[in-house]
Amino acid sequence: MLDFDGTLSPVDVGETLLVRYGGVNQARAQRLWREGRLGSKAMHLRQYPLLSGRRAAVDAFVDGVALDEGLSEFQEVCRRLGARILVVSDGMDYYIRRILDRHGLADAQVYANHLEFVDGRVALAFPHENPWCDRCANCKGALVRDLRREGWRVAYVGNGLSDRFAAPLADRIFAKDELAAELDRDRISYTPFATFRDVAAAIEREGVFPPRACSDRGDPPVCRFGPGF
Ligand SMILES: [Mg+2]
Ligand SMILES: [Zn+2]
Repeated sequence: MLDFDGTLSPVDVGETLLVRYGGVNQARAQRLWREGRLGSKAMHLRQYPLLSGRRAAVDAFVDGVALDEGLSEFQEVCRRLGARILVVSDGMDYYIRRILDRHGLADAQVYANHLEFVDGRVALAFPHENPWCDRCANCKGALVRDLRREGWRVAYVGNGLSDRFAAPLADRIFAKDELAAELDRDRISYTPFATFRDVAAAIEREGVFPPRACSDRGDPPVCRFGPGF
């Protein structure tokens, strides 16, 4: 399971679009999110409509985005091991799909929030919303939980705040940047990586990894999964 912004794409596409074409103050928004005062959905509903009327600029930027340099090695290892590639993002499917299609990942399954331009204006939908969780718009933690319940073994690759509740629930964690710092703080073990070449090498070395017991909802308990978790 791969995060998109800052992970599969070295550039945080969503954030760059909002800052560059929406005039958003991202530092302030991140602070509010971190303090638990603003969930992702509320934040998206506030910020993404600022891109209304900017579709041409958005498309031009998105079409220039390159993905991680180790991606093809990673895809090859997944193919050999029979692993599914899922892209999970609390960003928007509009740019993710467009970029994946251009990079030979048209088959990858994408779980993200939905954005489309309707008569030039931004329209949003949240198809993977978890009614129990007020932190995430697309609740990645609930998806990891569901997949493991179905019997999948989940490796999580991520870099940021939107991964911090989901990653500790996975069987295997690859982390960098802010996610790595958060996991260090919570004393949760993970494998650091710089590019997908590192992830591919580790997975190839180990083969199919063993399941890991996940004790609880993670700490702090602010991303929620509903009764019976
Ligand atoms: Mg990210
Ligand atoms: Zn959540």
